[in-house]
Amino acid sequence: MKAVTIDEICNAVLSYYPEAPADGLRILRGADEFAERVHGSQRRHSGEPYMVHPRLVAMILTELRLDIPSIATAILHDTVEDTHATLEDIENNFGPTVAGLVDGVTKLSKITFKTSEEKQAENFRKMIIAMAKDIRVILVKLADRLHNMRTLEHLLPYKQKLIAQETLDIYAPIANRLGISSLKTELEDHCLRYLHPDIYYKLAAKVSKSRREREKYIEEVTTMIQEKLKEYDLNGSVIGRSKHFYSIYKKMERRKIEYDQLHDVIAFRILLDNITECYKALGVIHATYKPVQGRFKDYIAIPKANQYQSLHTTVIGPQGERIEIQIRTHDMNDVAEHGIAAHWIYKEGKLDGNSRDVQWVNRLLEWHKDLKDPNEFLETVKIDLFAEDVYVFTPKGDVMEFPHGATPLDFAYAIHSDVGNHCVGAKVNGKIVPLKYRLKSGDTLEILTSPTQTPNKDWLKLVKTSKAKSRIRAYIKTQERVRATQLGREIIEKEFKAYGQKIAAVQKTPLFEEFLKKRAFKTPEDLFIYVGYGRLQPAVVALAVLQPDVLAKKVEPGEEKEPSFLNKVFESARNKIEGRNAITVDNIDNILIRFGRCCNPIPGDNIVGFVTRGRGITVHTVNCQKALDFENERRVDVRWNLRSPVKRHVRIKVLSHDMPGILADMSQSIAGCAVNISKADIRTTKDRKAICNFEIEVSGLDQLSKVISALEAKKFVINVERVRA
Ligand code: MN
Repeated sequence: MKAVTIDEICNAVLSYYPEAPADGLRILRGADEFAERVHGSQRRHSGEPYMVHPRLVAMILTELRLDIPSIATAILHDTVEDTHATLEDIENNFGPTVAGLVDGVTKLSKITFKTSEEKQAENFRKMIIAMAKDIRVILVKLADRLHNMRTLEHLLPYKQKLIAQETLDIYAPIANRLGISSLKTELEDHCLRYLHPDIYYKLAAKVSKSRREREKYIEEVTTMIQEKLKEYDLNGSVIGRSKHFYSIYKKMERRKIEYDQLHDVIAFRILLDNITECYKALGVIHATYKPVQGRFKDYIAIPKANQYQSLHTTVIGPQGERIEIQIRTHDMNDVAEHGIAAHWIYKEGKLDGNSRDVQWVNRLLEWHKDLKDPNEFLETVKIDLFAEDVYVFTPKGDVMEFPHGATPLDFAYAIHSDVGNHCVGAKVNGKIVPLKYRLKSGDTLEILTSPTQTPNKDWLKLVKTSKAKSRIRAYIKTQERVRATQLGREIIEKEFKAYGQKIAAVQKTPLFEEFLKKRAFKTPEDLFIYVGYGRLQPAVVALAVLQPDVLAKKVEPGEEKEPSFLNKVFESARNKIEGRNAITVDNIDNILIRFGRCCNPIPGDNIVGFVTRGRGITVHTVNCQKALDFENERRVDVRWNLRSPVKRHVRIKVLSHDMPGILADMSQSIAGCAVNISKADIRTTKDRKAICNFEIEVSGLDQLSKVISALEAKKFVINVERVRA
């Protein structure tokens, strides 16, 4: 790539902005002089003088026909980061706009995406915020990244991979979302070259080998289309060209085929003067060649989220091959190549606030406010960056856009959170569909609601938009808090009752206030929630907040006449405890422990605890499906308390050949391991096998293994397994 001079940059600007003010061009020349002076003798990794880089970045931006402040920023973009120049210098010399942009690019450059996911999410967030401030910052950064990708060969291999991955993960999707396909495709091809060099070079070799053949083919098809158009008095220009490598690669991956089997590596494009001509041309093409079913897309009537407009169709060519054709106006082509930048031309200052891209950025920011967890944010941004869109209609005929795979719930939440929260289903094109229905482009939707409907956790699996996700999460969290507060209050009230006290009165005492402060609870409700979630025992609260003389007058629970609902809950929980101290939990004393019936852990199993509303902690084995379903925030570390041995019931199933006396034989071996049997049953199968179920009492995994191996040692036994549920 050839270095460029400031004269060439100025000429490029004048070519699309002939009335550029002399002042503006002076700023560009001034910026160039300034940058050259401060970069001094610095060099790039390639060994070239440093200035080669900012000038080429500026040149890339002239191809997008950006305004003068953006071009000046490109020239200056590394000065604050890499030289002694300060932002004040920039502002004094080039004004606040350029200084603001340079500041934005500098800050963005400090973001690296290499470490943990959490950090990446945080960085992504910063990037979006930078974008919201002024999209030009991102455009300069994208151009900067493009030039760096073009010169990536000069870096060490591990760095190449790192930067290429980051480009593929972050920068190419953003270029795509902003509709700048010229940047996106080149970035992706560079990424492929460094991330999968074997594939890239194989493709490059194949493409160059078949070049002559391909050119001949393109020539034939373009002439053919051109002649057809002429027959109908349409004056269109036809272009045929090879798709970019990355999209060929993706296509091969998707269809699991080799390059040689891929016929549609060439895309044809017909450019016309207006929309009417586009539809006419489509008619001509479809009348001449058979269209492939389901391949026609009308992005003119319904533009993509990034403002892309075009007609897409695939037809069967004269030799039976598939030909992909895009039909659009010259203006649309401009938008397709330059995206958001195409709307920039000659508009000094801000982008049109109503532009859908700007709306998108603002929307992301708004949702971000609801999402405290950076990973949730990353997830939502990723959804919005990568989703293919579907377009559906409201009953009034308004078009709404959704990511691929979206459901009526997404639609409902897009209308209003209340509509979403009460959504029971939808009518699609007049027919009732369930919540899990996947929206299709062209559907007309009417949401069905019910006042008794409420969101639940399963809904999170159904929705695709970040808005719906964050609203459902918010609802669930609030509901859980409400329930935990109520339950916590009841639990404490019951505990206080044993001392003849009431929360309402106790709440006003200094002891209570003190306790809140000591435990850093902001309100009594916070305390109730804590108790409700089982993180704090009511007895602990009572001991801390009741007067000593009151504490001395405890009424024993046995004296209570009618057990309340809560009491029953506690009783049933207590009954399930086999040895109160079987489990130790960090920092929490004397807590209610239950064992998951699903996995029935015994000492020696790897376990994990989950806070259960009002029931203390439920212990599951680490790989129990139910445990995996729990939210991480409820998870607590638990350990078997080795100093307090317990007996646990566990069931085993023995498959054996059916012979007389086997039950007695097996029972004897189990007893021989010093293990009690609490239940046993046997049944036989048609193929003369026997299935024995034993419930035994073991002290832990060691004893259980002993039993299992004793049984397995028997000749007639085929298989022994521990029953989990
Ligand atoms: Mn740079």
